[in-house]
Amino acid sequence: MSQNATEVARDCDAVVIGAGFAGLYALHRLRGMGLDVCAFEAGSGVGGTWYWNRYPGARTDSEAEVYQYWFSDELLAEWNWQERFPAQAETERYLNFVADRLDLRKDIAFNTRVTAAHWDEAAARWVVQTDGGDAVRCRWLVPCLGPLSEPAEPPFPGREAYRGTVLHTARWPREGIDLKGKRVGVVGTAATGIQVIQTIAHEVGALYVFQRTANYTIPMRNPKVDDAARERMRARYPENRQRVFDSFIGFHFDLDPRDWDQVPKEERRRTLEALWDKGSLQFWGSNFIKVIMDEAANREVSDFVREKMRARIRKPELAEKLLPTTHGFGTRRTPLDSGYLEVFDLDHVHLVDVRADPIQAFTDTGLKTGTAAYELDVIILATGFDAGTGTLGRLDIRGRDGLSLKDEWKKEISTAMGLQKNGFPNLFMTAAPLAPSAAFCNMPTCLQQQVDWIADCIDHVRRTGDRQVIEPTPEFEAQWVKHHDEVANATLIAKTPSWWLGSNVPGKPQRLLSYIGAGNYRQACNDVAQRGYAGFVIS
Ligand code: NAP
Repeated sequence: MSQNATEVARDCDAVVIGAGFAGLYALHRLRGMGLDVCAFEAGSGVGGTWYWNRYPGARTDSEAEVYQYWFSDELLAEWNWQERFPAQAETERYLNFVADRLDLRKDIAFNTRVTAAHWDEAAARWVVQTDGGDAVRCRWLVPCLGPLSEPAEPPFPGREAYRGTVLHTARWPREGIDLKGKRVGVVGTAATGIQVIQTIAHEVGALYVFQRTANYTIPMRNPKVDDAARERMRARYPENRQRVFDSFIGFHFDLDPRDWDQVPKEERRRTLEALWDKGSLQFWGSNFIKVIMDEAANREVSDFVREKMRARIRKPELAEKLLPTTHGFGTRRTPLDSGYLEVFDLDHVHLVDVRADPIQAFTDTGLKTGTAAYELDVIILATGFDAGTGTLGRLDIRGRDGLSLKDEWKKEISTAMGLQKNGFPNLFMTAAPLAPSAAFCNMPTCLQQQVDWIADCIDHVRRTGDRQVIEPTPEFEAQWVKHHDEVANATLIAKTPSWWLGSNVPGKPQRLLSYIGAGNYRQACNDVAQRGYAGFVIS
């Protein structure tokens, strides 16, 4: 896109990209400040993650009572959650309710993908190009693309020859797909794979689960929310509204402040049992901090979880395959499950160990490993995402002097608090690398916090900058990266390959994508703002 050659169809103050949790709130906040906002969404509806990930069994692993917006008493009062952990459809309905209630749709261009955004230095504006052909010029560019939006697909050759259906979980067709009686293969056994497998196992004719890494999994307790439970939930809202923003990972619970080594072993066991009974991510997020920092503590908790899992696996030969041994508990995302391990009791469910015998290629009728071929009508890729940088990197974002965001992140993944990047003035990101995000935060909490910071910052710059331009200094950005790495490297997580580090995408520079410590992060953001956006240059 050349700025001179581009026809600019419209000028607006801000462009918001994406209509998920962050994009909807950003549109609402910026519009509320009197800005003329254009929002673009590639999908045909709102929802973001909850629009795209409509695979069987998709649901949140965060409790509904904290997986929502806090900024509006009306929204909190009017929406009635139905399940402790809402399924995709309920969450999507909630986001549609919010869009309607706040009259957001009128400013969103659906079915419109932003393809490029170039900074025009002379005009101090972004020129934003969409696949619709028209360009929009804006002062503030706010991509709200989510950390997990760009599907990662395995590079198995021969896909064009395969005569069956291949689906990535994050691109599930809106009309669904009939799997009844079919021979289905699922590649991937992490958070998504587990949800798909436990959901479809009972209806398919044969299920082949291609597992490379066994994961720890916690049985989810997911009661329906009746009127009485809903009232109790509502009564907790005022407290939760504060707690989520102060907590370590954006939930209504927090880490156990006790020192692991000072707590007797029997008491530790009682603590683990009590946390396990919660049936939630509390087993991870309310545990002792040493569990993710200290090998011995981690080993004890890993053993505890394996013991719980083993008790659910009926076939002893399967236990050795389904129990995780390659990493410690909590050093990769721990899924919640509902009957996952039990589906392997079914005679038509087969576990294929593709660590020992990797998948080599598609065939015309299925998949083949080094030693066997599998005939499959449908292949489901639950193979995750190019997280953090993937979606933003797909856009041709060019800052000062044509600097390409994609190329910069190919060299090194770096941001100033995940909110801005030097060389890209007035570009504000949410869920970007080095801010707390999917790995270490209940997403709606951190997205609301980041949108609020961005909106307040824009408000400040509008009133104080002659040109109304803000950008972090290279020194501040480097300082944030150093601090981020210090926090990350003190944990076992930084030593464990996973999408959290970008190690699932070949060639991606390795760095923990999410900042660890949502409450601390919020304080750091507030501190920067209170000091007149120290570390940022406003002109
Ligand atoms: P993921 O955690 O990256 O898992 C991808 C899976 O695909 C892994 O089991 C991986 O094996 C496997 N895989 C990738 N390439 C493969 C290959 N060539 N051969 C065999 N197996 C291969 O992705 P995800 O499960 O979609 O989850 C991503 C994140 O989304 C989660 O961590 C979570 O943050 C979020 N999520 C949340 C929910 C929820 O809240 N309920 C649900 C789903 C997802 P390896 O482990 O060996 O690489």
